[in-house]
Amino acid sequence: MLLQIPKKSLQPSSNPNLIPNISQNPSNPINFDQNYRNLCLLLQSLSSSRSLPKGQQLHAHVIKSGVQKVTLLSNHLINFYSKCQRPNDARQVFDEIPHKFSTSWSSVISSFAQNELPNLSLEFFRRMIENGIRPDDHIFPSATKSCAILSSIGSGRSIHSLTVKTGFDSDVFVGSSLVDMYAKCGEIHDARRVFDEMPERNVVSWSGMIYGYAQLGEDEEALRLFKLALIADLDVNDFTFSSVIRVCGHLTLLELGSQVHCLCVKTSFDSSSFVGSSLISLYSKCGVFDEADRVFEEMPSRNLGAWNSMLIACAQHGHTQKAFELFRRMGVIGVQPNFITFLCVLSGCSHAGLVKEGEFYFGQMHEHGIEPGAQHYACMVDLLGRAGKLPEAVGFIESMPMEPTESVWGALLTGCRIHGDTETATFAAKRLFELGTVSTGMHMLLSNAYAAAGKFEEAARARKMMRDRGLKKETGLSWVEEGNRVHTFASGDLSHPLTKEIYKKLKDLGEEMERAGYIADTTFVLHDLDGEEKQRAIKYHSERLAIAFGLVAFAPERPIRVMKNLRVCGDCHTAIKFVSKCAARTIVLRDNNRFHRFEAGACSCGDYW
Ligand code: ZN
Ligand code: ZN
Repeated sequence: MLLQIPKKSLQPSSNPNLIPNISQNPSNPINFDQNYRNLCLLLQSLSSSRSLPKGQQLHAHVIKSGVQKVTLLSNHLINFYSKCQRPNDARQVFDEIPHKFSTSWSSVISSFAQNELPNLSLEFFRRMIENGIRPDDHIFPSATKSCAILSSIGSGRSIHSLTVKTGFDSDVFVGSSLVDMYAKCGEIHDARRVFDEMPERNVVSWSGMIYGYAQLGEDEEALRLFKLALIADLDVNDFTFSSVIRVCGHLTLLELGSQVHCLCVKTSFDSSSFVGSSLISLYSKCGVFDEADRVFEEMPSRNLGAWNSMLIACAQHGHTQKAFELFRRMGVIGVQPNFITFLCVLSGCSHAGLVKEGEFYFGQMHEHGIEPGAQHYACMVDLLGRAGKLPEAVGFIESMPMEPTESVWGALLTGCRIHGDTETATFAAKRLFELGTVSTGMHMLLSNAYAAAGKFEEAARARKMMRDRGLKKETGLSWVEEGNRVHTFASGDLSHPLTKEIYKKLKDLGEEMERAGYIADTTFVLHDLDGEEKQRAIKYHSERLAIAFGLVAFAPERPIRVMKNLRVCGDCHTAIKFVSKCAARTIVLRDNNRFHRFEAGACSCGDYW
């Protein structure tokens, strides 16, 4: 049956308020084609603006008309829900497609990969193969991306051999995604082999390789490769620069990043707003807020990405008032905020414990026609939870129009840990585990929430549950950059060439700190150790070793910048305040949540983190 979609009612990007009036009357196929195309365009425009309610309305109309059975339209619906972070809705649309072509599989597999559901993405990839559908140059990259997220090198290799069998290994997109996957799984030699054999390379393959070397600390090779990319076959553009700077930012390679910045200036690419945004996030991630601010203020033109990057920088560094000021400036010159903008402002409120302001900006989202997503709710729950308003936080979760995600429950658990509320923690844990697969971080949060309230048996049980599920705790690592080298430390690490000097420094400092009034707080140590052992374990947490290395190896006036992959514990936080005072040194520590700038015995976070 042909369906008529009146031409006039569809105005793709110009007015997404209009819902097409799809009637059941047959009409001529040309008209149908045109209107159908318009409907797809409208969905695309709603996807890019992530207008969930309008899209849902449109979807309802589409269902009523029966037109959703057309595969292409369903694909657009899947992409729309994927962009709006509704992978379950995307899946439902997929399930209802009677004849699934490879494009439908491609849409749903990439929807899972993009929404951090790598297991589901791979499961659907397997199902697709079982259904005899041939993967294509869109599906392979989604599958390899999922392997990279899971660090699942076994699945990655199987997919690689499948690309060889199907002849897709010479495709530039597929090849690049393989390079990226091997590099992210730490298999640099395999990455290099694929890279060297590629008939044609693009930005993703070059960036993947550079990332791989940089991640292994082989910065010279990373930089060498980047220079090759500049002079070789790669058409270097602002996107190349911006990706390389992002690599540096991601790995907090300040010196390498600054060198690339110089190159940008020489080649005049520094005026691009893409490059500018990456530079802002590089400097922010490396703890040099002033430099990020300078880049931002000197930009000749700023796109929304640049504003958002600067807002993230403010949130991470605790410059909340500045973030509010930027938001005001955006309003004055008419820059429309998007959902990321609000995420930045809300996380700023949450870092500073500003409940009223948070509620205000959350309300502002509706004014700007932006539907809050799960991440915005997580931010608000975090804000309320940290401020000790746990019942309000629970009420807030209950008011969510969508299923609360892991990060929402995680935010509630953080509040429970800070305020020692094991009852709410148990409730959150129960709901959390109903979601099915739960990450290591959540088990640790739960365990920490119990331990902080002195319930060690429950804490142990949460950790055992984690082990039973085959999850491993992420190893706490801290690293510090010196010249073009990165020095990485694990807790109690004895592998560094300067180990003797580092431990001696810690011992000497420890005595001085105790004289200044420092008392080790071992409630943060969760192992079932006795008192003295607990003190020992906490004394050598990775960030302390990294700081001691800085004290031993750096010139006396140079600030020490340490990066850590996990959250800093309360005792280390206190200890570092004492170090900054006793050693008269500025220490910048970035943990997985924010920046701490320690100076003269105090921290920029005001002990609120
Ligand atoms: Zn610690
Ligand atoms: Zn702090």
